[in-house]
Amino acid sequence: MLNFLDKTLANPEYLPAQNHTLPGGVRLEVIGTGILRVRPAQRGDRRVIISCGVHGNETAPMEIVDLLLNEIEQGQLIVRNELLFIIGNPPAVNAESRFVEENLNRLFSGKHANSAALEASRARLLEEVVTDFYHEGDEPRLHYDLHTAIRGSQIEKFAVYPFLHSRNWSSEQLGFLEACGIEAALFSSQPSGTFSYFTSHGFDSDSFTIELGKVRKFGENQMSSFIKMIEGLKRVITGQESFEDSHQRIKLFSVVEEVIKRTDAFKLHVEADAKNFTEFKAGAILASDKGYEYRTQKDGERFVFPISNVPCGQRAMLVIAPTEI
Ligand SMILES: [Zn+2]
Repeated sequence: MLNFLDKTLANPEYLPAQNHTLPGGVRLEVIGTGILRVRPAQRGDRRVIISCGVHGNETAPMEIVDLLLNEIEQGQLIVRNELLFIIGNPPAVNAESRFVEENLNRLFSGKHANSAALEASRARLLEEVVTDFYHEGDEPRLHYDLHTAIRGSQIEKFAVYPFLHSRNWSSEQLGFLEACGIEAALFSSQPSGTFSYFTSHGFDSDSFTIELGKVRKFGENQMSSFIKMIEGLKRVITGQESFEDSHQRIKLFSVVEEVIKRTDAFKLHVEADAKNFTEFKAGAILASDKGYEYRTQKDGERFVFPISNVPCGQRAMLVIAPTEI
């Protein structure tokens, strides 16, 4: 057995390249630590990246990837698409922390050039690996970057759709996410340093950051909570995805304000244990800073991802509102 997750965490800095062919002809190729290329016996119709561990303390997605890889190795899942599995930040996983020196999910799309952090070289490497993988062929591209959130959420499972510039949202992709148990999608309004924005913008990939619930330690995740997501990923792995059904029930939100921490006077005005997607009436103060405050403009605005201890210049919260497409 390859035991990719165990091997990655035992070798967080460096894992030599190695290949392994399964009885059915599927090839597993370790490209580096936390980076595994899986080639079907016959060339696949899509190129799919499944990533996890971009934040080191988000264990459930890594357990999902481990489960999928074990089923691939045991021949229970027949791989029919071109796959790239990534465990984003192995040293942070071992440290049981979100990151070691800097948030990896702010360093893509070249933003690593301004950083000397450990994560900057990892972002650079992952960009190279993704570029090679997507340029191997012109098959349609997909990227599911799996996360769990620091705080509880009124809506437990949701996806972030990266800013698409002139491309259109895909109702069929939203329909697929809905079948995976995702209850809401949030449309980003501007470029960012996330992994999913990098693959989306750079390669016209259908890419999503997917939040699957609250952060827990290894072994404490309720895998039954992820069954629909796991089933959806299995369909993508085995070439049984169709992307034919439009979205129906998934709740849609757009970003109305990206709250940036400007100075050390920055303050969030939400309860420390307030859940993501908590709803407000118009006029509620959510954040303040030197010469700035954000008050909700309309009833029904909500916040996600509030975090005050970020460096100045970084995002401290998103304010969102229901939208239609
Ligand atoms: Zn995360």
